[in-house]
Amino acid sequence: MKFATKVIHAGIEPDPSTGAIMTPIFQTSTYVQKTPGNHQGFEYARTQNPTRTALEKNLAALENGALGTCFSSGLAAMDAVLKLLNPGDEIIATNDLYGGSYRLITKIYERFGVKGKFIDMNDPEEVAKQITPKTKLIWIETPTNPMLKIIDIEAICTIAKEKGIWTCVDNTFASPYLQTPLDLGADMVLHSATKYLGGHSDVVLGAVITKTQELGDQLRYIQNAAGAVPGPQDCFLVLRGIKTLHLRVERACKNAKKIAKYLDRHPKVGKVYYPGFKSHPNHDIAKKQMRHFGAMVSFDMSEDSFEIANKVLSNTHLFSLAESLGGVESLIGHPASMTHASIPKEERLKVGLTDSLIRLSIGVEDADDLIDDLEQAFVNL
Ligand SMILES: *Cc1c(COP(=O)(O)O)cnc(C)c1O
Repeated sequence: MKFATKVIHAGIEPDPSTGAIMTPIFQTSTYVQKTPGNHQGFEYARTQNPTRTALEKNLAALENGALGTCFSSGLAAMDAVLKLLNPGDEIIATNDLYGGSYRLITKIYERFGVKGKFIDMNDPEEVAKQITPKTKLIWIETPTNPMLKIIDIEAICTIAKEKGIWTCVDNTFASPYLQTPLDLGADMVLHSATKYLGGHSDVVLGAVITKTQELGDQLRYIQNAAGAVPGPQDCFLVLRGIKTLHLRVERACKNAKKIAKYLDRHPKVGKVYYPGFKSHPNHDIAKKQMRHFGAMVSFDMSEDSFEIANKVLSNTHLFSLAESLGGVESLIGHPASMTHASIPKEERLKVGLTDSLIRLSIGVEDADDLIDDLEQAFVNL
């Protein structure tokens, strides 16, 4: 089945009791058994829920995996992956990781003896050098946030596989429409479905999709044992969002390309970070592993000051100033004071995260209206 068919049909069957074409929201905590142990595959809703099952099957199909397992948020999904580890184990992770992922490793798991090493994954050889006998998991996030660097998934997964180390790719920024890491050798894919999969900024949910049934079963065990499950209404919203994933992401990517070009020509704009530019240092990797270059664009102003950025951020009307990404509506954000405020300035500057850096999550509106909105925000600087 091709992707556009999978988003609509994979894992979805008409409800057997009514014929309802859309998977109902099974708002129940338990299921009646005829005699003890004689049930229809559903016993208690932490363990199984039919709305969740439909979503898990759909996600497994989209990522070409054996099993999908859903959680109450993207970070709850990551928490389940980290619970596969034992005290003494080490994780090698991308250095400009999503802030919440960095916090989970350093503030929670380090207390339990699981250590994180955060490195620049631009050069796969550097990853190979950092591996020790204690390394159990390599955590890749690509494209990265907010600098939009692209990491070579296949090269790093090949190195990990030789050493018997698990790999997990946070695929939130790309979505399975643009990139399917399991096809490139990864063992696990993580999603904050809060972003592109849900797509309408109305739900928080997470998922892990595994290449093998065996690893998926371990995550299912953790899902039930630790219990960070999503509710059926949230599963329904994500299932509904996914039906237009391909249409939304395709449109958002086209808009992003047009807006990146506009920004690149603008005299008041400094550097534009967009993997679709031939001049982007990882353009060739992006071309190799992604179907399009994504709908995130970051840029800084030619005059690097927080005040200038603040004016732009306060003066857009269509672009809303907010955290998050991946919805139908365009968002504008200021990493230095919002998502990355906890990182010391010297550290931020090392990776190019200046005071005037602005991050855009491009939605599916008309690109010309979005450009007009930016233009009017730039005029009175
Ligand atoms: C938002 C996000 C997460 C966390 O997901 P939540 O659903 O907010 O818990 C993890 N990784 C990336 C890349 C994200 O953007």
